[in-house]
Amino acid sequence: MREARWTISQAAALTEFCRRADEILLHKPKLSFEEWAPRFIENPDGTPFRFRPWQVQPARDLFDLSLPSVTIRAYSGAGKTYLISAAMCYAVEQLREQIGIMFPNKDAAQEWIGEELSKMFESTPAIADLRMLTDKVLLKVWNNGGKLSGLGANSSTQIRRLQASILYADEIDAIEQDKSDEGDKIDQFHMRARGRKRQNKWLTSYPSLKGASKVDAWYDKSDRCNLFVRCAKCEHQYVMHTNQMVWTPKKPETAHLICPECKRKLKEGERIEMAKAGEWLNRNREKPQRGVDRGFHLGCMNHTGDHNGAYDGYLHEVAAKIEARKTSDNPEKSRRVFVNTMDAESFAEEMEQKPQPDTLYAKREKWDPVQMMPPGVLMITMAVDVQKNRLECMTVGWGVNSECWLIDYKVIQGSCQSVGTWNKLDKYRLKRWPHPHAGNLAPACVVVDSGKWQSTILEYTGPRTRARVYAIKGAKSIDRELVSKKPTMIGRPPAPQYHIGTHEAKDLIYQRLELDPPKKGNTYPRGFIHVPEVEAFSETTGGEATGFFEMVLAEDSVMKRSTRTGEFVRFFDCPRGQRNEALDLMVYNLAAERIMNPNYGVIASKMAK
Ligand SMILES: [Zn+2]
Repeated sequence: MREARWTISQAAALTEFCRRADEILLHKPKLSFEEWAPRFIENPDGTPFRFRPWQVQPARDLFDLSLPSVTIRAYSGAGKTYLISAAMCYAVEQLREQIGIMFPNKDAAQEWIGEELSKMFESTPAIADLRMLTDKVLLKVWNNGGKLSGLGANSSTQIRRLQASILYADEIDAIEQDKSDEGDKIDQFHMRARGRKRQNKWLTSYPSLKGASKVDAWYDKSDRCNLFVRCAKCEHQYVMHTNQMVWTPKKPETAHLICPECKRKLKEGERIEMAKAGEWLNRNREKPQRGVDRGFHLGCMNHTGDHNGAYDGYLHEVAAKIEARKTSDNPEKSRRVFVNTMDAESFAEEMEQKPQPDTLYAKREKWDPVQMMPPGVLMITMAVDVQKNRLECMTVGWGVNSECWLIDYKVIQGSCQSVGTWNKLDKYRLKRWPHPHAGNLAPACVVVDSGKWQSTILEYTGPRTRARVYAIKGAKSIDRELVSKKPTMIGRPPAPQYHIGTHEAKDLIYQRLELDPPKKGNTYPRGFIHVPEVEAFSETTGGEATGFFEMVLAEDSVMKRSTRTGEFVRFFDCPRGQRNEALDLMVYNLAAERIMNPNYGVIASKMAK
């Protein structure tokens, strides 16, 4: 039997009735997000909710049904999480919508929802007072129809199960594409709103590597809005950037901005006022239009929020960060992180080519460690690479500011299984090197690679632990720190073994090899590597190898993203058949220096006596 049909007027009356019932039950009218948020959201710290000036336009756009997508590429500290969390509250309470949240993996989704978003849910009575049918970190269902599901992009099954109208993908540059043929993860995610009346797709991330950044790709296909400001001096309209900052070297407190048009100085207060009055304009310098993919880019010079209390102002804070980059252990990595998180831009690789062996041979210096070590050497370390038929050893001198001097490279012939070979090593490691102030020096620490023949090597290092002879092992993963803080105790009887982050170490060594000596009278740059013009570091080093620097420069690298930290790191690989013992030995010596971590000031003053 056919069901009775509603007449048109009956249907209209019912719709109207439902709408009125809605209003009566809710005791409040429908408001837009910009109207609703300041009235109903309570910040976790008890202060009233306020949009930051840059957030007003995005707040309007997040729920605009005419925009196929909204991409936000903003600096760290912009308040993106604050804006998105508020929008989630609105989606649940006012729209009673279904929300899908995707992070690169489940743990990241869990962390963001559990530790960021939940705070705002809990402090906002309009949400906290709603009755919940399910309250798990990754699945929340409210009895008003609102629903929130969190998932990891690494689970296609989870993505396929999702049904939602509001789709938020964060950290999209850290999403790893797997080898399955299901296509782009973000496309798969966006399919989950197919056929729905409301479809809001939000994408955010710090950008990563130029040409490989997903958030760049989304921003590039959008209308590319930038926050334009007017110069406080000349009214010229432009986009502020950290490259307009100027300060006296080593005095970041003097930082200010220079207007690209009138070239006049703009102080912190002027910068803030300019940013507050900033206006979003698209790629054609027009007000953002409806009906297009929206993209917002925001660099840190537009910051209007608090600054770290240790500094006079935000410009001072940022300048200090840039100053710190110069003296950091790994300047290139610091630069990448800064460009990604503060300029909110992808970075281009600076080291296009590694140095060439000939250039490095030409930079060798005229001194001979057998005659006398340079006075800057305050401690020496030694590293041993174990091969089936020989041991390769390298001795390195260390001084303040990570400056180092290569002292010796020696190959001890003999099977690594034979006691005689290790006896020869014992004799060699006790060798003393002449020093102008200390008489002579022997290695303060010796590290032996135990990647292969581990038990044999522990038999050697174990009984010599008190003489600081340690086993080490290179870690495979790309984001391991240079050396583990504490050794693992292994074998019987237990002997210490340190784990080495070889990729981080090689990145440092390749950068340091490129450093040029300073002009006469100036100090050497941090981490400078001095190589003497002696037989040990020549074209014949390493026996069958083609030379010392050929071995050091044997490896090639590509950038890979660490899934643990989200940062890009250099991943090294040795082409088949290439000898690279010299590079490994430099890595191990670097680790030995870190293990010792001496107070060079104290050593230097003792030597002076
Ligand atoms: Zn100006």
